[in-house]
Amino acid sequence: MSEIPVYRNYINGEFSSEPTSTIDVFNPANGSLLSKVPNSSAEEVDQAIHAARAAQASWSQRPAIERATFLKKIAVKVRQNAERLATVIVQEQGKTQELAAVEVNFTADYIDYMAEWARRIEGEVVTSDRQGENIFVFRKPLGVVAGILPWNFPFFLIARKMAPALITGNTIVVKPSEETPNNCFEFAKLVAETDLPSGVFNVVCGTGHEVGNALSTSPKIDMISFTGSVGTGSHIMAAAAPNITKLNLELGGKAPAIVLADANIDLAVEAIKNSRIINTGQVCNCAERVYVQASVADEFTSKLSKAMALTRYGDPMTQTDIDMGPLINKMGLDKVEKMVELAKQQGAEVVTGGKLADLAQGFHYQPTVLSGCNSKMEIMQKEIFGPVLPVQIVADLDEAIACANASEYGLTSSVYTESLSLAMNAISGLDYGETYINRENFEAMQGFHAGARKSGVGGADGKHGLYEYMRTHVAYIQS
Ligand code: NAD
Repeated sequence: MSEIPVYRNYINGEFSSEPTSTIDVFNPANGSLLSKVPNSSAEEVDQAIHAARAAQASWSQRPAIERATFLKKIAVKVRQNAERLATVIVQEQGKTQELAAVEVNFTADYIDYMAEWARRIEGEVVTSDRQGENIFVFRKPLGVVAGILPWNFPFFLIARKMAPALITGNTIVVKPSEETPNNCFEFAKLVAETDLPSGVFNVVCGTGHEVGNALSTSPKIDMISFTGSVGTGSHIMAAAAPNITKLNLELGGKAPAIVLADANIDLAVEAIKNSRIINTGQVCNCAERVYVQASVADEFTSKLSKAMALTRYGDPMTQTDIDMGPLINKMGLDKVEKMVELAKQQGAEVVTGGKLADLAQGFHYQPTVLSGCNSKMEIMQKEIFGPVLPVQIVADLDEAIACANASEYGLTSSVYTESLSLAMNAISGLDYGETYINRENFEAMQGFHAGARKSGVGGADGKHGLYEYMRTHVAYIQS
C-alpha cells in the first residue's frame, strides 16, 4: 500500500516541519484518503505574514520587469509538470481530466499574461489649477496580500491572486481550501525550485475558522483577496472591518440565461448545457437558471432535456469518456438533492434527471432539467452548484430582465438572440458584471471579472484587476 503524503506549509522559502495537527483530504469520486495537510494555528499564520512583510520592501524595489522574470519561470515549471498537476486536481476536486488540463494550461498562460504587464504599469500626470504646479499620480503596491481560495478552480485561483499581486510589488500568503489543498502544495514545490526570493510567496493551510480568520483579522495584512461563498465573504468583511483592510471579494452567482424567440435554439441548448455541466455545475459564473420566451419554450426545453440526458458522468480518474465527475462532497450533494426536492414540492416538473445518480460510489447527481419554475421558488434564487437547470417561461425580454435582476447575485448573465438591438437592450437592462451573447459564460483573462450586488466587491483580470492590487499616491509639485 502506498504511503499517504503529509504536506507541509511553505513559509519564507522553506517547507515547515511536519504538522502536529492535520486535516484529511479525500477523493470525492471514491472516498479514498489522498493526503494529510496542516491544520495550522494562528501562530503559523503570523509567521507567514511576518515572512511576507519582511520580503516585501526589497521585492517591490526591484524593477517590475525583473519581477516578471520570476513569474515566467514559475509558468514554465507549471507547463513542464502539467500532466502531473492535472492528475492531482482530478483526484481531489473531481473534475474531468480534460478540464483539469485546461485549468493547468490556462494558469500558466495567466501567469505569463500578468508578467507581461511589467512594462505597462502606469501613473498619470494631471493638469493643475495652479500656475507652475504638476500633479503626479503614482501607483504603488499595497504590501502583503492574503489570498483565500475556494475548491472549484483551486489551481487557477492561486495564479489569479498571486500573479497580479507579485507583478505589482506585493508579497502574498495563500490559504487554499481545505477540500483541495494538494495542488497548492504541489504549486509551492515548483515555486521552491525557482529562485523566487524567500517570503514573496507563502502557503498556510487550515480551516477557514482558524487560518482564514487569522488572515482576515490581522492588522499586518494590507489586502484580502477572497474567492468563495457570499456567507464567508460577509464574515471576512466583518472580520476585516476593525483594520479597514482593503477587500477584493469574488463571491457566488446565480447566472440567468435568457433565450429569446429569435434565438438559434440549437446553439442556445448546446451553450447552456455546456455551461451547466462544466465542473459538474460547480462554477460561479455558469448558467444557473433559464428564462425562455413562451413561443420557443417547448422546443428549447425538450432539446435541452435531451442534451442534458446524454451527459456522461463517472469517476474522472478511471474514465476519460465522461463529461462530468462527482460533486465535491456529501454536503454539496445533499444541498442539490434538497433544492430539487423543494422545487418539486413547489410545483416544478422534472423533465430529465431529478435524482441521485445510480453509481456505486462518489457524490453524483443526475443531470437535471426542471420546467414550470417561477421566480418565487428557491431554485430560481439560491446558488445550486450542481448539474441542474431550472427553466421559467417569460413573455418577453423585459420580463426576463426584470426576473434576472431580482436576485441577490449579479455576477454573470447570458442572452441568446439573433437581433443586435435586442442584445444591446439586454446589456443595458441587465444589472450584472458580465453578459455573454450567444455563447457559454467563461471569462477572458484580459476582461474584468466582477460582480454586482452580493456577487462581490472589486474584481479580477485585465488592467482593472491588476490595479486592484495597487494604491495611488498623488504628489503636488510646485515649481
Ligand atoms: P467557502 O466560502 O466555503 O470557502 C472559501 C474559502 O474560505 C476556503 O478556503 C475556506 O476555508 C475559507 N473560509 C471559510 N470560513 C472562513 C472564515 N470565517 N474566514 C476566512 N476564511 C474562511 O466557498 P467554497 O465552498 O470553497 O467555494 C464555492 C463558492 O465560491 C461558491 O459560492 C462560488 O460561487 C464561489 N466562487 C466564486 C468565484 C468568483 O469568481 N466570483 C469563483 C469561484 C467560486
